[in-house]
Amino acid sequence: SSDLLKNKKILVMGVANKRSIAWGCAQAMAANGAEVIYTYQNERMKKSIKRLVDDEEHLIECDVASDESLQTAFTTIGERFGKIDGLVHAIAFAKKEELAGDIMNTSRAGYSLAQDISAYSLLAVAKYAQPLLNNPASIVTLTYFGSERAIPNYNVMGVAKAALEANVRYLARDMAKYGVRVNAISAGAVKTLAVTGVKGHGELLRMSEERTVDGKSVTTKEIGNTAAFLVSDLASGVVGDTIYVDKGVHLI
Ligand code: NAD
Repeated sequence: SSDLLKNKKILVMGVANKRSIAWGCAQAMAANGAEVIYTYQNERMKKSIKRLVDDEEHLIECDVASDESLQTAFTTIGERFGKIDGLVHAIAFAKKEELAGDIMNTSRAGYSLAQDISAYSLLAVAKYAQPLLNNPASIVTLTYFGSERAIPNYNVMGVAKAALEANVRYLARDMAKYGVRVNAISAGAVKTLAVTGVKGHGELLRMSEERTVDGKSVTTKEIGNTAAFLVSDLASGVVGDTIYVDKGVHLI
């Protein structure tokens, strides 16, 4: 822990439960002195996040599938907290049936949905957040190696993550004029709610653990610590990049 993020307000989007990567990020932000604000997807998620954060003021609903919800959420954040210094976007979704078998069987609707929630949402969040972001500020999103390699069953989500990483580069260029840096963390596989949507996720988790340099999967704490670095002023030179935090899985 440190004072690295002292006097910074960081918005963390995507905490579902204590296993969420977003929760690892939130804890790292708090451990380094930041005030953390949270958005959750819906009422069901609110019940779950309230077990971790018992503070109504810092909990705001935001369904990234809806522009109206995004607008309301960021208006509320502005009213309650004024300017913010960074945000973590840890949100993705694809239907279970799209995360299995051959990618040719992806439906048109399923493809669009995965792109909408997992890739377009970063652009939408950036647009609504921009008036609230300080100069400097930093945006961090979460991606996965399935954007670069054909990982079994990851399919349509791999395509969405490739789009997300391209969004990071274009956003980084276009938000630089507001003093906003945009980067992604390519996290190693960790057992979260989202991963259980992928067919054979047990095998995926086992195989990626085997491929780490020390046989131990990356933790959400380690991912969170990198997110804390990326939102801090120490990372002022890191722009539009995707940083692996996967204990070396991408090397092999
Ligand atoms: P998680 O299930 O804990 O978090 C996913 C979050 O996305 C949930 O909080 C869910 O409510 C939210 N979400 C889905 N649809 C939404 C919507 N319409 N509006 C608002 N929020 C919505 O799982 P996680 O693994 O912590 O996922 C966080 C991010 O990390 C995702 O982008 C995921 O792809 C990425 N990631 C995960 C892994 C892994 O192995 N778990 C690896 C690399 C990257």
